[in-house]
Amino acid sequence: MTNCKQLEKLHETIRYCTLCPLHETRTNAVPGEGPCNASVMFVGEAPGAEEDETGRPFVGRSGELLVSLLEEIELARDDIFITSILKSRPPKNRTPKKVEINVCRPYLEQQIELIKPRVIVLLGGVAISSLFGPRKVSESHGRFVESDSQRYFMTYHPAAALRFPKIKIAMREDFKILSQDLV
Ligand code: SF4
Repeated sequence: MTNCKQLEKLHETIRYCTLCPLHETRTNAVPGEGPCNASVMFVGEAPGAEEDETGRPFVGRSGELLVSLLEEIELARDDIFITSILKSRPPKNRTPKKVEINVCRPYLEQQIELIKPRVIVLLGGVAISSLFGPRKVSESHGRFVESDSQRYFMTYHPAAALRFPKIKIAMREDFKILSQDLV
């Protein structure tokens, strides 16, 4: 079976996943979307209300900002794979629990293994901490890290950039650093 077919199959499994209690309150699981051979993968925190409603990642205001930041560095949404640490929405968008992250994590690991992105962009504290342990985004953003031969880039979550203009400016600078690595 090709990697693309395996990814489709994995996403079907995620859509019906009942491994943690979040399946009881979600409307739709949100596996992620994008080319199965994308060279850049973006990983956010968890689906929000609009993502839960549509089953698609980053379709709300955060998604709009992400797309405009991508366009500034000449990347289209269709060029990248977008997903999140959790694939089901936590009630009222509360912060994901450690146990939920641990149960859901193999899905992300399988996506990474199948897509084999050149770089994984971690959006915000939950994504960064889930993979690298507790770290302040303010101290780690704008940097590349390598772990188990996989390259990662750390930046803020677009939701934080929507709330704080200074973070939006920092995120824009981070995306410029990212773009220099992609040429
Ligand atoms: S958050 Fe992950 S582990 Fe929990 S139900 Fe959704 S897909 Fe399954």
